[in-house]
Amino acid sequence: MAHDHDHEDHDHDHHAPHHASELSPMELRVRALESVLVEKGYVDPAALDRLIETYETKVGPHNGARVVARAWVDADFRARLLADATPAMRELGVGGRGGEHMVVVANTQEEHNLVVCTLCSCYPWPVLGLPPVWYKSPPYRSRAVIEPRAVLAEFGVTLPADQRIRVWDSTAELRYMVLPMRPAGTEALDEAALAALVTRDSMIGTGLPRAPGPSA
Ligand code: FE
Repeated sequence: MAHDHDHEDHDHDHHAPHHASELSPMELRVRALESVLVEKGYVDPAALDRLIETYETKVGPHNGARVVARAWVDADFRARLLADATPAMRELGVGGRGGEHMVVVANTQEEHNLVVCTLCSCYPWPVLGLPPVWYKSPPYRSRAVIEPRAVLAEFGVTLPADQRIRVWDSTAELRYMVLPMRPAGTEALDEAALAALVTRDSMIGTGLPRAPGPSA
């Protein structure tokens, strides 16, 4: 298949001089490109605004959280999700560009999963939204593989010594999402309340789901 690597985040123009402007070189380039496209009539500014709004509000970790919560309450869905995540997510209306080939890896008492993209910053956009800055940082990308337990400790996650850590390296073709373990004490919670416990980081593997509140 065609190599369709998402390089939105990449700035290959390392030699660009620093401008006095408050905009970064990438922001300046984006702004210039937008101006040209609008001027030439190739894009409608309103359509562009809708697209940006989509990424800011509709696409985000709440999508992944819905998938996780469904998997916690529905064993059949969980099995479909782990067997072939892309169509299973589509059942919940989750998917799209950057999520064409999703793989979901489930945490267990024996094994904790951690997602990284060592090459660049491939990330499951439709389920998790915009990637956090640290996900794209060279230290995370290298150290997640070399010393995952130390990296997790820095995120405030201390796992039992006998729980293995498995690191999954994302590519343009395969985007991983972690299915965290359902927290204890959540038996009475419905799907929506469960989804509220699912953090973005718990689906990357750098965090765990929230504990239920005292009223749960
Ligand atoms: Fe990448």
